[in-house]
Amino acid sequence: MQGTMQAVRLHAPGDIRLDTIDIPTPGQSEVLVKVVRSGICGTDLHIAKGNFPAPNLPLTLGHEFSGVIVEMGAGASPMNVGDSVVVDINIACGRCFFCRRGQKLFCPTVTQLGVHRAGGLAEYIAVPAENVYVLPEGFDVDAAAYVEPLACAVHGQDRIGITFGDRVLIIGGGPMGLAHVALSKLAGASAVIVSEPDATRRALATRIGADHVVDPFATNLDEYLASLTDGVGPDVVIEAVGSIPTYETAIRVARRGGKLLAYGAAPQSAELTIRPFDIYAKELTIVGSYAGTYDTWPRAITLIATGRFDPSLIVDSVRSLDEAAEAIRALEHDRSTVKVQIQVSR
Ligand SMILES: [Zn+2]
Ligand SMILES: [Zn+2]
Repeated sequence: MQGTMQAVRLHAPGDIRLDTIDIPTPGQSEVLVKVVRSGICGTDLHIAKGNFPAPNLPLTLGHEFSGVIVEMGAGASPMNVGDSVVVDINIACGRCFFCRRGQKLFCPTVTQLGVHRAGGLAEYIAVPAENVYVLPEGFDVDAAAYVEPLACAVHGQDRIGITFGDRVLIIGGGPMGLAHVALSKLAGASAVIVSEPDATRRALATRIGADHVVDPFATNLDEYLASLTDGVGPDVVIEAVGSIPTYETAIRVARRGGKLLAYGAAPQSAELTIRPFDIYAKELTIVGSYAGTYDTWPRAITLIATGRFDPSLIVDSVRSLDEAAEAIRALEHDRSTVKVQIQVSR
């Protein structure tokens, strides 16, 4: 497809612009996707500030997008022009130690759309056909822009393994914390407790299914949790903020024999003081979760398709492509919205 398009590109840390560039040509085994909706995420702010390695500038941002195939490169199959799709952003070699073990996120040559190579905050994107998931008939393409974050949350849930009756504390009521509220309920938690200072986010957490919400700055969190958990603390704690104080809280409040999911992305250089004795004596299980790939994508699609998970309970702002750069910058200080998505086309 000939012509130009608009793309939200990072030129240098702090320098995001809406550029007019050539529409990419799909290469061998690639397809060209016309982007319909594209989410904005905390990771975009990390990249934009230079806190996340982004080696290939200028970089088109955006790793949470849905769209429609408009052109097929040579050898791209089995999908077709006109298919509504989402795209697993993780592109790996398929042959290395980690790829052979089903762990392509750790592939030494893994690249991610919108992080290392052109992403979906643009009118068009060329992607490997291998990474494309065709949406089921009738699937709302707008709602599909939440598949990527949901796939990440599904992976986190797989890692932590909530069991029936667990009492789960989620620290942070941002878009990912809220996804974990819904998934923890589906996984069989008997109580989902959300610790979140912002009243709007607490209200959203309740709407999406949290049983208890608490402002940790207004209430003594430890006492509150004790009152809900026979005095022992939550079975599972999901840290979905990525700050040192909240990680410290997570380790402190998890019950003896409990489990902690390290989900929130802390700054790469941030350090945490931890007493190994606490892990030892509490028999604490700490697991990390980085991103969703493989089967978490079709499973996320199915959760949305069946109505088990409703992204519209989290996405509270939809804007246009020319507002995207400001929306990324605003993530730093503006708490008035929880999840912004960009309507790139219809
Ligand atoms: Zn994201
Ligand atoms: Zn590999």
